[in-house]
Formats: sequence, C-alpha cells, structure tokens
Amino acid sequence: MIKEKLRFNIRDIPEYVPGRTVDEIKRRYNLDRVVKLASNENPYGTSERVYEVLKNFRDFHVYPKLNEDLIEKLSDYVGFEPERIVISAGSDGIIENAFKLFVDPGDEVVIPIPTFSYYHTVATVYGARVLNVKRCEDYRIDVDSIIGAVSEKTKIVMICSPNNPTGNSEVYEDVREIVESVDCLVFVDEAYAEFSSDVLIDLADYENVIVSRTFSKAFGLANMRIGYGVMDKDLVKEYKKVDLPFPVSSIAMLCALAVLEDLDFVRSCVDKIVEERERLYRELLKRGLKTYPSQANFLFFKSPIRSRYFVEEMAKRGVILRDCSNFIGCDDFSVRVSIGKRDENDFFLNALDDFLDDLKY
Ligand code: PMP
Repeated sequence: MIKEKLRFNIRDIPEYVPGRTVDEIKRRYNLDRVVKLASNENPYGTSERVYEVLKNFRDFHVYPKLNEDLIEKLSDYVGFEPERIVISAGSDGIIENAFKLFVDPGDEVVIPIPTFSYYHTVATVYGARVLNVKRCEDYRIDVDSIIGAVSEKTKIVMICSPNNPTGNSEVYEDVREIVESVDCLVFVDEAYAEFSSDVLIDLADYENVIVSRTFSKAFGLANMRIGYGVMDKDLVKEYKKVDLPFPVSSIAMLCALAVLEDLDFVRSCVDKIVEERERLYRELLKRGLKTYPSQANFLFFKSPIRSRYFVEEMAKRGVILRDCSNFIGCDDFSVRVSIGKRDENDFFLNALDDFLDDLKY
C-alpha cells in the first residue's frame, strides 16, 4: 500500500476541510441568497485596472521572469530596498520557504495560540516540535512566556499581526523585545496589515526577522496567489536557493502591479471595511455577544451555543461563517465573521437576530 510509505509526520496532519461554498449552501437549504463571510476576502473585488491587464496579456506560453517594476513599486510601498523583497504564491509561500530554510526534523518552533492554522501544518510537514504558547486574556501575545519557551533548539517564533482569527494587532515594542531576546528567526505575518493602525514591518531591519504580506486581502487578488516577504539582504540570497524555480506567474505580478498603481482603490476599500468593522463590532456587543476589538477585516466573537451548531444555524439562514472551534487554542464557542459590504453585514445581522429570537423559545 502506497499509503504506508508516506512520511510519518504527514499522518499527524488533520485533513484539510475547505470552507463551504455559496452554491452548496443555496442547494442544501433551498435559499435564494447566501452571503459568504468566511474567508476574509475583499468584498469590493479588485481594481478595474486588473481587467485591462487580463485583456491585454499574451505571454501564456513562456515562463515568467521577475517583474522589476513590481519590485520597485513594492519597495516604494513598504519603504525597503528592492534587494530585500521577495515574492511568492501568496504569503503562504513565504511561510513555507522560511521553514524550508531553517527547520530540520526535531527543531523547535514557538507558536502563540490561537492563530493561523497553516503554521502548525507546515511545522508538522518539516518535522518540527511545536511549542504552543497561550495568549493573554485579550489575545495579545504573552512576551515572557514566548521568550521562556525559546531554547537553543528553537528555529522560528511565529507572530501573526493582526492575528487570525482573533483580530488583534501586536504592540511593536512587545515584538521587538522578542526579536532582541532570542537567537532564532522571528517570522512576522502581516497578511492583514492594511486594516491595522499598528504595523510591525520596520522590524524587518533586524537580521533575524522576516515580514510577510499579501495581495490577497486589501488588494483583492486572493485568486491570483501573490504575496511578498521583506528580510535581510543576505537572507534573500539563501531564500532564493530554496524557492521554487518559477514561484509566481507573470499575470499575477502584472495584476499586483496594477493594484499598487491604484492605491486609491485599496484605500477606499480599507476605509469602508474599517468603518463597517467598527459598526458590526458595536452591533454584536449590543446583542450581548462577547466580541473582541479587531484591527483586521474580520471580527472574532463567542457564540451563544457551540460554534459548530451556531455556524450551521446561520448557514440555514443564508450566512456562511467560520467556526473556529477546531483552531488550536480556541474554545467550542469561537466564531469569525469577515467584514462584507454594508448590505451583506446587515443580512448577517438580520440572520443573527432571527437565530437569537428562535433561541428564546
Ligand atoms: N497569513 C494569514 C494570517 C492568513 O489569514 C492567510 C490567509 N488566510 C495567509 C497568511 C495566507 O494568505 P495568502 O497565501 O493568500 O497570502
């Protein structure tokens, strides 16, 4: 049996369960309207300029080469020299390459929980021993516990800010303290940076830091699979050794460049999403649900019944949410809702009111 030849670690990874689609829920519950607020996508789509790029692209038959204009534009955008920037297929690609670079089987990786579940998956694939460090009550990282968990075997400390699924951003000085105290890589995942008033990217000036970002969220290009990383110049050379030969397609690079040249679009999406996030936060609190302040394009809250059942009840009412009870470190009442357009958020609130009314009886 070929299954018996699989690497031992792979058996420990839970099967990936993709989120349910709008069509699936429509069919299952016989609904006309279903709103998906489960994947933290940009509800406004992407820049119109992307459609122009797609219309004019002809080079499907040749391998991609690095788009220097994109790197220049990214350099202006993040304020780091072009030689310090790498791109990959989503920021997931940067995360995986960090593990490829640093983690041998048996090495340790420190992960504050709850957080983005892909870190655990990659850590397991590379045979790392994971040290999960519980966050504080408000989900901020526990700096002393993280530093305490780091040993000479630790290769990476993962920091996600704003954190998925809890939405909070980390304080710059807290993360800097970790960076300065440890002798290993600190990987800072800033996939949701555009929605946050606090960003950590300046920490990329430390030689033991990689910061990753993405075009999947505020830039509306989740389906193009393009993200980037900022790191020390010498580390970029090592990074390129382990990278895939052609990690990103030309079309993805051109689309990313087109959106970078239309930052007004990005800003207007972020402004609307942040305004709606704050409104939704107040509305959830008004309904008596424990909800956490967020710096991302989603909110984390506690459901009145187990989140597995709550999410199903909401799906019956046409709203797809993310049940987070299977995130390591989350309890059984943990739910994440992505911020949609105003009318989508109203649809969610109406469905929620309907559910809460039914709960009373
Ligand atoms: N980091 C975090 C915290 C995320 O939530 C996600 C997407 N769910 C990613 C990274 C990966 O996104 P992408 O590969 O599309 O950049």
